[in-house]
Amino acid sequence: MESNKTSGEFNFLEAALIKRTPLFKECINIVVGKGNLNADILFVGEAPGKNEDEQGVPFVGAAGKNLDKLLENVGLNLEDVYIANILKCRPPKNRDPSPDEIKAHTPWLLKQIKEMKPKVVCSLGNYATKFFLSSGNVDLMKDQPGITQVHGSVKETEIKGLKIKLIPLFHPAAIIYNRTKLTPLWEADMEIVKREIKK
Ligand code: URA
Repeated sequence: MESNKTSGEFNFLEAALIKRTPLFKECINIVVGKGNLNADILFVGEAPGKNEDEQGVPFVGAAGKNLDKLLENVGLNLEDVYIANILKCRPPKNRDPSPDEIKAHTPWLLKQIKEMKPKVVCSLGNYATKFFLSSGNVDLMKDQPGITQVHGSVKETEIKGLKIKLIPLFHPAAIIYNRTKLTPLWEADMEIVKREIKK
C-alpha cells in the first residue's frame, strides 16, 4: 500500500503543523481515524503503533483487537464510534509522546472534534485523559489525575471554545495486562457512556 503522507487531502493548516514535526519524517503513514464520523461517541487513544503506522489505520494491533472485543461485549461496533489518537504519527519505538509533539498534533484532533460534534469523547488511557482534563494546556498535563482515579466519571471541559463532554476509559492495551480486574470496570464505564448519549 502506498503511503498517504503526500495525499492532497491533507492540505490544511492543522496537517501542516504535524508535517513540521520530526515524527512525520519518520512515520510511514498519517493515522487519521476509523469508524463512523456520524457516531455519538469518539474514542481518543494515544498514538499509532507499528501496525497502525504500516496500515494507516488506528487500533489494528493487539490493543485494537482487544478494543473490538470490548466493544462487542457491550453490544457496540465500529458503526457506533469513531476512533482517533492524540498523535497522528507513530513515535519511534513507541516511546511516550513529548509535550511539543502533543502541541503540534492536537490541533488536528480538535478540528476532528469540531467537525464530528460527538455527544461524548472517551479518552483511552492516561495521555488522552490528561490532555482533555488540562483543557488542552499541555504543560499542565503532568498535574492531572491518572486514569485509575477518573475512569467512568463525566467531565465537562472546554478547549479553545469547544465544549466537550469527557468520559475517561482505561486503555485497551492496559486491559490486556489486567483483564480480570479491568474488563468489568471498562464495561461498567461504557454503560455510563451509553446513558450519556441517550440524554
Ligand atoms: N494504541 C493507541 O493508543 N492507539 C492506536 O492507534 C494503537 C494503539
